[in-house]
Amino acid sequence: MLKGKTAVVTGSTSGIGAAIAEALAARGCNIVLNGMGEAAAIAAQRERLSRAFGIEVVYDGADMGEPAAIEGMIVEAVRDFGAIDILVNNAGIQHVAPIEEFPVDKWNAIIAINLVAAFHTIRHVLPKMKNRRWGRIINIASAHALVASPFKSAYVAAKHGIAGLTKAVALEAAESGITVNAVCPGYVLTPLVEKQIPDTAKTRGISEAEVVRDVLLAAQPTKRFVEVGEIAALCTFLASEEAASITGAILPIDGGWTAH
Ligand code: NAD
Repeated sequence: MLKGKTAVVTGSTSGIGAAIAEALAARGCNIVLNGMGEAAAIAAQRERLSRAFGIEVVYDGADMGEPAAIEGMIVEAVRDFGAIDILVNNAGIQHVAPIEEFPVDKWNAIIAINLVAAFHTIRHVLPKMKNRRWGRIINIASAHALVASPFKSAYVAAKHGIAGLTKAVALEAAESGITVNAVCPGYVLTPLVEKQIPDTAKTRGISEAEVVRDVLLAAQPTKRFVEVGEIAALCTFLASEEAASITGAILPIDGGWTAH
């Protein structure tokens, strides 16, 4: 149980982040939700988690591409809950294009949201975690932190970057009761992946069904998408006392993809 602890989960209004927030809430954590979305849907998500699990849930709409907004979110969370025990850096975006045609604004946004945001959240939470001699930082990376795919240069660069950040901070925090790990999912059928299916079809000149079969699941020996609940379960384990010796780890949860 993680009763009474507080978790900030970036990008938790959808997909993997929403599942992680729910799994941590189910173990008694108070939750700071973050991400984009319709106000009514986010209010319903807050209400549902808070009622189902008897915990406090707040929402902060900070844009993970904006360092000042990130600092504001952490300051507010500490004001609301007294401390942040668990930080899950999950917010992420994708764009698929050959590098010669890769839009510069998309490159900058992917690096900012998928990589630089974690530098800012970590640098703001770490001093207090060190004072309390307990903390869990979980970076949602990707199989693309370990291997590359064509047409995803910005995403692969950001995800390889977050693997390096994970290891460096794990070493810096190791004697302070803080673990820092990266979770590397294979393909999960969330809006992020659904959106890239048409783009990949266009870039490669194949049908959307062929993208799923021959591009996405071709890489995944299990031939099925990873489930958000499977990722959330790994994260709750990493947040537990029993995972105190797992740090600096880059953990694939990818149906065997990176075993190739
Ligand atoms: P998703 O699109 O369902 O969710 C992304 C979340 O990030 C949403 O809540 C969105 O609002 C939020 N977000 C996007 N831009 C933001 C910004 N500027 N500021 C704050 N929040 C922002 O995607 P997902 O598949 O759940 O992805 C979550 C994480 O998992 C990402 O880091 C992604 O790279 C990683 N991942 C996904 C897959 C996959 O196959 N879906 C595989 C490996 C890794």
